[in-house]
Amino acid sequence: MERQYLNLIGGKWGPAAGGATSPDRNPARRDEVVAVFPSAGKEDAIRAAEAAAEAFPGWARTPMPKRGEILLKAAALLEQRLDAVAEALTCEEGKTLAESKGEVARGVSLLRYYAGEALQPTGEVYGSASPSTFLFAERVPLRPVALITPWNFPVAIPTWKVAPALAFGNTVVLKPAELTPLTAWHLADVLDKAGLPPGVLNLVVGRGSQVGPALVESSHIKAVSFTGSNTVGSKLAAQCAERGIKFQLEMGGKNPVVVLGDADLDKAVEVTIAGAMLSTGQKCTATSRVIVQRDVLDGFRQRLAAKASSLKVGDGLKADTYMGPLVSADAEKTVLDYIEVGKHEGARLLTGGSKLQGSEYDQGYFVAPTVFDGVRPDMRIAQEEIFGPVVAVMEARDFDQAVALANDTRFGLSASVVTRDLGLALRFIREIDAGIVHVNSQTAGAEPQVPFGGFKGSSSGTREQGKAAREFFTQIKTVYLDPP
Ligand code: NAD
Repeated sequence: MERQYLNLIGGKWGPAAGGATSPDRNPARRDEVVAVFPSAGKEDAIRAAEAAAEAFPGWARTPMPKRGEILLKAAALLEQRLDAVAEALTCEEGKTLAESKGEVARGVSLLRYYAGEALQPTGEVYGSASPSTFLFAERVPLRPVALITPWNFPVAIPTWKVAPALAFGNTVVLKPAELTPLTAWHLADVLDKAGLPPGVLNLVVGRGSQVGPALVESSHIKAVSFTGSNTVGSKLAAQCAERGIKFQLEMGGKNPVVVLGDADLDKAVEVTIAGAMLSTGQKCTATSRVIVQRDVLDGFRQRLAAKASSLKVGDGLKADTYMGPLVSADAEKTVLDYIEVGKHEGARLLTGGSKLQGSEYDQGYFVAPTVFDGVRPDMRIAQEEIFGPVVAVMEARDFDQAVALANDTRFGLSASVVTRDLGLALRFIREIDAGIVHVNSQTAGAEPQVPFGGFKGSSSGTREQGKAAREFFTQIKTVYLDPP
């Protein structure tokens, strides 16, 4: 029998108010139930927001170094169970075990990084125009915050929101994606065991359409940090604006690799394949367009198609798997529908383009690594986020046209250029509309100590991670202190 897990509200682990549950399934073997989780609704969300409000004064008074110590302890606990959490991640999300281990290790680093941030200065002292005034600006918490996260990085994203929120003295309601609750449960469990007081972190696993709006509407919630789709993000933004509360949105991408005429083509293929196919293309920073200068297009597309068709697709738990399944039946349908759209729009399929069939493939959501060639900028597959192992090859006359094509989408999360020419690399860095730029490396990847986020429709609000997280999770109180 699979284990039944519980939500954490006000320091107590418990079921959803109505007792509803939902199975957490393995996308590589859809009949396998990994765990059973509560399917919380509005009532649970309201209780969690109340618990966070009740816990706030005590947590805000807790000295920052003490908050940091709890994060450090949680990092150690998460590191001790790294293998178990990585396996849970592969079983509920599908990515390979190597990628899962990397993600859990990143969660550990994030907890450590924000434990360190808890020892950093919390404000600035200014010279006042008045000789008797002590003038300073102090960063203070926002109070209870709601953190709403997607399924594709179910350890890293909750951690990079929860850790700074807690370090800076906020209390939290975490609403993870319904598809991947087990990893978020581990995060809540290690923080609970590390000694967080009751109500400081509340975990509500449940339906997004119920729990999300109830949290955003709760008068206790003073800010929302969201990562997910543009459709949900833009609705949330309107709700937050209506209430006049702070929000931060990290959303979709349509990230390009630009391969210039002087590029090392093996390097260009390596960068494109890793960016497009790892995590089955389900990263907000995944490569979904590759814009190639005409002179090297023939050589590049042959090598890319050969490499893509040679990738080992299978259960992420197997050591030789390069690419696992898509996360769900819905995700598989969306990707297969986009492949049909691409064919109808007149793009040429170089490899892949279908569901994989036979033996283990029939059990899960496996789609072949897919490469389209001859893609024009007006095609939907060049503009819309597919979120699967599908990459569109586009031709560019020269550097200027390549950058113009790369910038020609509503998104601006990450971008990469492959070149040996330092001058062109620098021009690319200046001219590309993206929040994250790579030179000779894949579009995906994020280190915890630097800001993360995009331009245009990819993000809204201040950046996540690194010191940038402080901008979102604190507000500034300016104090004029005069002697009595
Ligand atoms: P999603 O928008 O469907 O869901 C995200 C979260 O929002 C989930 O927890 C979901 O339950 C919740 N939700 C659903 N309806 C809601 C509502 N009405 N109100 C409030 N919350 C609601 O996204 P997803 O399918 O989980 O994730 C994939 C998307 O996330 C992709 O578009 C991807 O690009 C994006 N993403 C962005 C980043 C980034 O940092 N920019 C990182 C990872 C994923």
